[in-house]
Amino acid sequence: MADRTQGTKIVLTASATEMSEFGNSQFIAFVGGFASGPVPKWIIRKFLYPPVERTANGKAKVAPYGLRKVEAVLLQNGFSEEDVAVVHPADLSQFVGPNTKAVGISSMDPSGMGYVSKTYSSLVGGGEPMNAVEFKALAKHPAILRHNPKVIVGGFGSWQLERKRLTKDFGVDCLVMGPGQEGIVEVFKKAVAGEALPQRIRSPAKPDEEFPLIRHAAIHGAVEISKGCGRNCQFCTPTVLKKVDTPLETIVKEVEVTARECGEKGTQITLVTEDIFLYGATDKTFIPNEEAVLKLVKSVASIPNVQAIQPSHMSLAPVVCKPDMIKQVAEVLIEHSWYNHNGKPIVTGETGIETGSVRLMRKYMAGKMLPYKPEQWQEIVTQAFGILNDNDWYPLATLIVGLPEETEDDVQETLSLMDDLKGYNAFYVPLFFVPLEDCLLMNTRGAELDSITKMRWEFLTRCWEYNVRIWRNTFLGNRISNPTLFKAVNQGAIPLAAKVAQKYYELTRDEEIGNVIWKLANVV
Ligand code: SF4
Repeated sequence: MADRTQGTKIVLTASATEMSEFGNSQFIAFVGGFASGPVPKWIIRKFLYPPVERTANGKAKVAPYGLRKVEAVLLQNGFSEEDVAVVHPADLSQFVGPNTKAVGISSMDPSGMGYVSKTYSSLVGGGEPMNAVEFKALAKHPAILRHNPKVIVGGFGSWQLERKRLTKDFGVDCLVMGPGQEGIVEVFKKAVAGEALPQRIRSPAKPDEEFPLIRHAAIHGAVEISKGCGRNCQFCTPTVLKKVDTPLETIVKEVEVTARECGEKGTQITLVTEDIFLYGATDKTFIPNEEAVLKLVKSVASIPNVQAIQPSHMSLAPVVCKPDMIKQVAEVLIEHSWYNHNGKPIVTGETGIETGSVRLMRKYMAGKMLPYKPEQWQEIVTQAFGILNDNDWYPLATLIVGLPEETEDDVQETLSLMDDLKGYNAFYVPLFFVPLEDCLLMNTRGAELDSITKMRWEFLTRCWEYNVRIWRNTFLGNRISNPTLFKAVNQGAIPLAAKVAQKYYELTRDEEIGNVIWKLANVV
C-alpha cells in the first residue's frame, strides 16, 4: 500500500471550475467563463462550482472525461491504481508529496481565451474569467511548488498557454497539444524516471486511434459517442476531424462503468458528440441513420441505474430531414429527462445557429446545413426549432458576433432571423468570434468589445431578452419554492440589483451595458 503522506506517484487534476458538476448542470458550467467581480472567491467556490464528491480514500468520484481517458491510458500501460490518483485541486496537499513525480493537468480554458470567457469577461467586466483565475491557482498550488513534480498540461485549451506564452510562468514542464494519445505514456514514464521532458508534444487526432475504456465515472456521466464532424465550418476545430463513431458496444460499457459506480442512487449520462443525430450516419450529404440513433438512445436508456440522458450537441439540418426520428428519440429522452421548463420535462442540446447571414454561411460554413443549401439556412433554423419544440426539445443555440468581414447587413439578417424565432422556446448564447487554434480561421482577428456597433448591441440584447422571458420563472422556480419569497425576488430584488448594476456600469464602464441590464430586468 502506498504511503499517502509521501504522495502518489502520478496525480491527475484540473482546475476548480472543471472539477465541479455546477449544481448538476452542464450548461451552467458556461459561467466559468465569467469574472467573479467583487464576490469573494470562497463564496463562488462553495455555491457556484462546489467540488465534486470524493471517494472514501479522498480521490475524486467523478472527473472530466478527458482526464478519465488519460487515467485509463496510464492504467493500461504499466501503472497501477495505486500509482495514479485523480483528485480535486483542494485535495492536492493530501496527494502530492516527495514521491510524486508528475502532476497531469487537463484544461479547457486555462487563460480565459475560450468563446464564453472572451465574450462575457469583456462585456460584463469584473476581472479575469473564473476559468483563468482557477487555473492560475492550481498551477501555483503550494503542494506543487513545495514538492516540484513535473507538471504536464493537456486538454482542449492547452494552446492558450502557448499563445499567451504562459508555460514558464505557470511552471509547465510539458505541454501536450492535441486530442490524441500519442506520446502521453512516454512523457509520464520519463517524468517518473526523473528524466527531462520535451517542452511540448503534439498528439494529433487519428481517426482509427482507440482509447481504452474509462475506469471510473466522468463528470455529468460523460461518455463520448462520436468524435469530429466533417461539416467544415471554418471557425471550428472538430471540423478538421472526419467524424468517427464510437461503437455502440463501447458506449454501453462506459455507461455501465458510470452506472455501476453511482449505484442505486442512479446516474445521468451525457452523450458527448458534435451531433447526436448523425450517430451511425455514413452518407456524404449528412443524411441521418435513424435506426442507429434510436438504437443508441434505447440501449443507453435500458442500462440499470441510468436516470437521465442528455446529448451534448446536435445540428439542425437532420431535424428538418428526419422529423420522425426526432419524435422517436424525444420520446425516449423525455422519459429520461434532466431539465424542465416551468416544471415540464424537456430535452435540450447545444446547437450552432451562428448567423442569419446567408453570405457568411456560404463563405464560412457552407456544409453546416447539408443536405440543404446555404440560401435555405434561415428556413432550416426556424423549421428545426418548430419540430424540436413540438417534441419538448428546447435547444441551446450559440450565435457568433464579429465573424471576419461581418457587415451591418449580415447582423441585420441575424436580427431578422431572431424575429422569426421569437415564438420558440430555446436558450441563446451570443458569443464573440475567437480564432481558435487549429481552426481554418485561426490567423484572422477575433471580435473585440470596441467593434460592437449599435446594431450588434441590439442583437446581444435581443438574445438575452428572449432568455430572460423564456427562463426566468424556471430558473427562480427551481431554486425558490416559497411563493412569497419567489415574488419578492422576482419583483423586488432583481429590479433593485439591476438598478444598482445599471448605475455601476454607467459610472465605471459603458452606459450601453448598464442599459442592457436594466432592460433585461424588466422583461416580462
Ligand atoms: S457543424 Fe458544428 S461541430 Fe461541425 S464543423 Fe460546424 S460548428 Fe463544428
